[in-house]
Amino acid sequence: MAMFFKRLTVLLLVAPAITFAGGSRQLAANQKSVDRAKLIHEKALTLDTHVDILNAKYATEALDPGIDNPKLKCDLVKMKKGGVDGVFLAICAGQRKRNAEGYKNAYESVMGRLEAVHRLTEKMYPERCELAGSPEDVERIVQAGKRAIMIGIENGFAIGKDLSNVEKFYKLGVRYITLSHNGHNDICDSCNPRKQLGDKEAEHNGLSKFGEKVVSEMNRLGVMVDVSHISVKSFYDVIKASKAPVIASHSGCRALAEHQRDLNDEQLKALAKNGGVIQIVALGRFLKQDLPQRLKSISDLKEELADERINIKQFQKRMKEIDVKYPRANLEDFVDHIDHAVKIAGIDQVGIGSDFDGGGGIPGFNDHSDALNVTVELVRRGYCEEDICKIWGANLLRVWREVEKVAEELQKRL
Ligand SMILES: [Zn+2]
Repeated sequence: MAMFFKRLTVLLLVAPAITFAGGSRQLAANQKSVDRAKLIHEKALTLDTHVDILNAKYATEALDPGIDNPKLKCDLVKMKKGGVDGVFLAICAGQRKRNAEGYKNAYESVMGRLEAVHRLTEKMYPERCELAGSPEDVERIVQAGKRAIMIGIENGFAIGKDLSNVEKFYKLGVRYITLSHNGHNDICDSCNPRKQLGDKEAEHNGLSKFGEKVVSEMNRLGVMVDVSHISVKSFYDVIKASKAPVIASHSGCRALAEHQRDLNDEQLKALAKNGGVIQIVALGRFLKQDLPQRLKSISDLKEELADERINIKQFQKRMKEIDVKYPRANLEDFVDHIDHAVKIAGIDQVGIGSDFDGGGGIPGFNDHSDALNVTVELVRRGYCEEDICKIWGANLLRVWREVEKVAEELQKRL
């Protein structure tokens, strides 16, 4: 297989924030792996499949992704600094009541942010980034020295009950749809039923009849099916229904952290058989289970804030103290999940989906400017260049190409 090499640009990578214990010999060895990591990182096509954009103010002066923006963990400056070539901006439609107003709001809020992404790539910074609608686009854009921007929709709720919306979204650049979010929808059961929305444990017992139609429409168009957030039963139904490999755009491994958002080993094996990928998420509580003491301290603190016994500054200071006392997941935990997924599903089945600006961010990989640290840790653990390239983007592009190929064949048959 021809390895993809992006255009060599000036190294702007920051020194990794990892500190190593040990003598000078070990330090020299570590410096060697940092140097090696820099070279690999520069060569690899580096993609992140999940960064949230929360509102339609995105790509305006109020929320500018063209500067090193303190409000964003992913912006064009941090991406360049961290050597991140491309990102799927995920437009999340939070699950609300499924009535006329709920469907309308979800659709309109997604449309508003689709416009924002086009504003970013076509009006604000066309010289620095470009919308990619295919793997070839991604390669061409990155070779031209720009950031590739892709679009995902998080929650098929935005489709409402109108199947034709899938094509509408596709035409606006959407290349994956996460079938559900927190709460069941008309497509399938979520791994996180919402009692306040009237959810029972299971509503469809997996993928609904409408959901099957949505999956085949996505297959027909070449939109990747994202299984993050959906229930275990939905996951197996989707694998069965989809004619193309699927992705989990931002999930972890349940064997390492007992959280419903993570995939268990059986699911990882099924994903491998399907030819899909799990993009490991950098969200602390999906990587490492919170200790009950930590949860209790946080909820007590929130109560103090709610009762106005402390102000927001004191809250933040005390939160930091809690983080020191009960450490959150860090870069090593994140790479542990990569290791585990590689061990169970295989090296061709794993990638990275940070969930930045949607809750993601951990010490060591807190925003895109930290991305080299991930490669350093992979090198330190013995991953070779080819494997690191697979994890950072080649696996995802392979799946995307496969999804396009299936779509082409399906369209030929019609
Ligand atoms: Zn999510």
